[in-house]
Amino acid sequence: MEQPLMLYNTLTHSKEEFKPLHPPFVGMYVCGPTVYGEPHLGHARPAIVFDLLFRYLKHLGYKVRYVRNITDVGHLEHDADSGEDKIAKKARIEQLEPMEVAQYYMDAYHDAMDKLQVQRPSIEPRASGHIMEQIQMVQEILDKGYAYVSEGSVYFDVPKFDAEHGYGKLSGRVLEELFANTRTLDGQEEKRHPADFALWKKAAPEHIMRWPSPWSVGFPGWHIECTAMSTKYLGKTFDIPPGGIDLMFPHHESEICQSRIANDCTSARYWVHNNMITINGKKMGKSLGNFITLNEFFNGTNDLLEQAYSPMTIRFFILQAHYRSTLDFSNEALQSAQKGLERLMQAYHNLQGLKAAATSTVSVGDCYQRCTDAMNDDLNAAMVIAELFELSRHINAAKDGKESLSQADIDLCRKTFDTFAFQILGLTDEASETPHAEVINGLMDMVLEVRQHAKAQKDWTTSDQIRDKLQSLGIAVKDGKDGATWEWRQ
Ligand code: ZN
Repeated sequence: MEQPLMLYNTLTHSKEEFKPLHPPFVGMYVCGPTVYGEPHLGHARPAIVFDLLFRYLKHLGYKVRYVRNITDVGHLEHDADSGEDKIAKKARIEQLEPMEVAQYYMDAYHDAMDKLQVQRPSIEPRASGHIMEQIQMVQEILDKGYAYVSEGSVYFDVPKFDAEHGYGKLSGRVLEELFANTRTLDGQEEKRHPADFALWKKAAPEHIMRWPSPWSVGFPGWHIECTAMSTKYLGKTFDIPPGGIDLMFPHHESEICQSRIANDCTSARYWVHNNMITINGKKMGKSLGNFITLNEFFNGTNDLLEQAYSPMTIRFFILQAHYRSTLDFSNEALQSAQKGLERLMQAYHNLQGLKAAATSTVSVGDCYQRCTDAMNDDLNAAMVIAELFELSRHINAAKDGKESLSQADIDLCRKTFDTFAFQILGLTDEASETPHAEVINGLMDMVLEVRQHAKAQKDWTTSDQIRDKLQSLGIAVKDGKDGATWEWRQ
């Protein structure tokens, strides 16, 4: 019997059968990037994992509304020295409009994600474009008595929530622990309890990004933007809010509190969290000196990298591990991912030229089903890749005449590759898409030399054949006084 899609729900700590609230529609809300800096490795894993989920849900026939927000109101990270908002600081130093800074990094993020073959979401709302919705939701929470105003800022009353609804269901955090572990931060003295979180912050005079509100001129707290925007675009309860495990606390935990009070219901049904990426066994961080941007990976311009790694190598590497496992980046691991991907693509090429035998000497009959089973088992892309390697082995053996495959099996291999490697895992064959310019130039010099030689021998048949063949490949040859030149036909 066909297995249904099972997803590991972080809230219940168990694999559950995925049943959307309003089939065939699926609502998915991903906490998108904060546009404060160049996209880096930490951005790649959640984006690729949730792209896998997005693609697979569509493959299953669901109509997915995939919302991924952009955090551009600049309230998340403050400069360690001045306490100034990062976007505001960069804008001030470079004399830019803050939105210019946000736009620049948003474009950089999109560019990197396009290279990684991450499909764009259905809606990409920006926090700065939804200030009204956020103010409205803060007011609702205040009206219901679960928030209080202090010095122009508004805080969520966590102890009150805890007493009535139970706090920490997702992250397992207990209030007393939070009390003990909270450092004294700016604005802490305004709060009644250290675990209370800001719904609205009054802006300090130097804070550039600010909006009027009933409580002060200020800016929304980080957590409220996601609850406001997911409610607006997906409704009060929706299916999946995937996120990195680092978002579980305090971000997702706070979202649960906010929607429970503002919307009187649970916001999401299947909490899916991907695990973290480490670099050579260590957490990645600017202060640790092991911070690598995606462009540095693509160009090889970072001292930690022995070479450049193509976007597909990065994508393949990430998909080779289950999303709930930790993943460690090292040059060795990336180089082996690169080789593995090349092996798969080579097998796919070999498949195209494979001659069918009357009967198969190996059984590949259930490869498609096994890939489906792996995906249904909590998106086990690693297992899908293992199945594709197994197929590749048979394809290569058939090419070498050691095994044979029937036409039906060849077709099945092709269907499995097309569906799983290309459509669902989203891999592309970079080598065939971007042929090496140097190699092409060298080969063309050689071909034109042979043709020149034929012409010198008055062997017009050969020289015309070469010209026509090149023409059919999209290459135009032009004969001039100083010999022939070539260009890509328009
Ligand atoms: Zn969020």
